[in-house]
Amino acid sequence: MRTIPHFINGEKVEEPGQSNVFNPATGEVTAQVPIPSPAFIDNVVDVAVSAAVQWGQSTLSRRTNILFTLRQLIVEHTNELAAIITSEHGKTLADAKGEIARGLENVEFACGLVELLKGGFSDQVAKGVDVHSTREPVGVVVAVTPFNFPIMVPLWMSANALASGNVVILKPSERDPSVSIRLAELLKEAGLPDGVFNVLQGNATTVKALLEHPGVDAVSFVGSTPVARSVHESASKHHKRVQALGGAKNHMVVLPDADLDVAADAAINAGYGSAGERCMAISVVVAVGDVADPLIKKITERLDRLKVGPGDDPTSDFGPLITREHLERVVSYVTSAKEDDIEVVRDGTTLTNGGGFFVGPSLLDGVRPGTKAYDDEIFGPVLGVARVATFDDAIALVNGNPYGNGVAIFTRDGNAARLFSRQVHVGMIGVNVPIPVPISAYSFGGWKDSLFGNTHIYGPEGFAFYTRAKVVTTRWPQPSESQIDLGFPTTR
Ligand code: NAD
Repeated sequence: MRTIPHFINGEKVEEPGQSNVFNPATGEVTAQVPIPSPAFIDNVVDVAVSAAVQWGQSTLSRRTNILFTLRQLIVEHTNELAAIITSEHGKTLADAKGEIARGLENVEFACGLVELLKGGFSDQVAKGVDVHSTREPVGVVVAVTPFNFPIMVPLWMSANALASGNVVILKPSERDPSVSIRLAELLKEAGLPDGVFNVLQGNATTVKALLEHPGVDAVSFVGSTPVARSVHESASKHHKRVQALGGAKNHMVVLPDADLDVAADAAINAGYGSAGERCMAISVVVAVGDVADPLIKKITERLDRLKVGPGDDPTSDFGPLITREHLERVVSYVTSAKEDDIEVVRDGTTLTNGGGFFVGPSLLDGVRPGTKAYDDEIFGPVLGVARVATFDDAIALVNGNPYGNGVAIFTRDGNAARLFSRQVHVGMIGVNVPIPVPISAYSFGGWKDSLFGNTHIYGPEGFAFYTRAKVVTTRWPQPSESQIDLGFPTTR
């Protein structure tokens, strides 16, 4: 059985595999991931701590050159990287290429590091006194990533962390870890010194050890809400800088004036794309006024044309789920809907396709707070429709939900869209845009149970998170002006 290596100090390191990696399209175990011992983890952190000293002093032009080269290498290797992602995640090749392109944006943003790391300078703040500020790397950054974006989320974190002079230990999802090793190899080929980007395979126990390790300075986490909450608590308890992004339940509000064909297309794309395994997937369509019946009709017509199949078949619209266990969980939500008096307009759970973890698209009419299908993040191809009477009811529904990652509104009314954007308690809002993932020059992050910590991820807030500020106050006194004065220094 193939084992997935670690990548430590510029080399692949093999260990016996323990946790299974599947090809979700066939259900076969294709590899195993090692779970490192505490001593192994200590060694990796030691490597990172040593590498941090020199990399933190590297010139900005060298870092920029490496990131430019990495960008080119990722472009050249896109097909290969996409094939690796599809073989372990199951998403379509087109979707995998989309994730690579969105990850690449973060490398491109980080190439502007000279500008982004610029400090300030104030001349003559007092007589003969100047002040300047710098931003310095925090040191060793641990990046813990989820299964659903095995290259994009590592790039959200690593591009900015490396650009700002930090060393990274990436702990990828144990369910699709191979592409992180190719990323490490490409970074090495781009000229990154050994030990500056390390991949440590493992599971929850591995993460726990890293959170408690005194050699780790900062933690970027993306994953489910219960884990994000506990990672934030544990890292904070161990005095680390931490940002922990969690799960979501994203609503798409459709007002009576919306173009229902545009809205139906958007609901299909954002609800079922990547089999619903996206933190920005739409999981609830909020139909306002009399929109529900015609909109459901248009969505079901489109559902009947969707093809579920292997990710490497170009005719597939979406692929299998990540594991059988996750498939069973998704199916349980459709079953629970029937028990909760929610109409199952389309039941995709009967789909069978060999041993793969396939499930077809389901559509539920009448989801509402207090039902499992509404309250939980399903993370599968199950779209719910909630019926509300008014615009205010739609806002109340969105704001009553504990998650606050993304939300969309579909309307032709600019004033309604503006009011909505101002009143919802959500971090990322789309106006006629169903998946409003910000471009890399803005930062990504939700509110409420979708993010624990004070900074959003990537973009300017990413640079702020991975650096700490220093302010230098300088005076070159004339010897004749020197005197003893025990008063508190002022600028007056
Ligand atoms: P997960 O929480 O199960 O795992 C994420 C990472 O945490 C993995 O590397 C895993 O090994 C590790 N982990 C698992 N249990 C842990 C524990 N008890 N302690 C410490 N570490 C632990 O998430 P997943 O199933 O891989 O990913 C799907 C989830 O991620 C969904 O909830 C989705 O919404 C969320 N997600 C959020 C965003 C965002 O930006 N907010 C982006 C992508 C995915």
